[in-house]
Amino acid sequence: KDAKAGPLTREEVGRATWMLLHTIAAQFPDEPTRQQKRDAKELMAIISRLYPCKECAGHFKEVLKANPVQAGSQAEFSQWLCYVHNVVNRSLGKPIFPCQRVNARWGEMKRKMKMKRLPLLVLLV
Ligand code: FAD
Repeated sequence: KDAKAGPLTREEVGRATWMLLHTIAAQFPDEPTRQQKRDAKELMAIISRLYPCKECAGHFKEVLKANPVQAGSQAEFSQWLCYVHNVVNRSLGKPIFPCQRVNARWGEMKRKMKMKRLPLLVLLV
């Protein structure tokens, strides 16, 4: 079934990317190391260069220039990401997301699959 699905639309890629980014920001450490702060900045810079919709990438580069990445803590990074996502939302005429709700929306990653039952053999060892 998946093999027949074909390439993604711009909207699907956008939604999947925002989902990944907000989930990363939600799991970002409260006290990141220098390397983690650098990684967050690099991730956003790489997205602004390699994002598969050229027009979006160009637009996002400008957004980043006007709003440099803030990744001093989990709260700072997720609020910053919410803000820049809203800049994109505004330019597309989409509703503005209330950033005080960002942790409720993206905070805890849910486990959809139930834990598989351990094989009996393992229990007997
Ligand atoms: P999305 O905007 O994809 O959002 C997904 C979900 O995130 C929403 O359902 C909502 O629950 C939540 N959400 C919404 N806003 C916020 C927020 N501020 N903070 C936290 N959570 C939020 N498309 C273009 O046509 N032109 C562009 O220039 C363009 N630039 C883009 C740049 C980047 C970096 C990315 C990742 C995407 C870009 N897109 C662009 C795609 C666009 O932003 C949307 O992803 C796409 O239109 C699908 O929109 P959607 O309504 O499904 O919700």
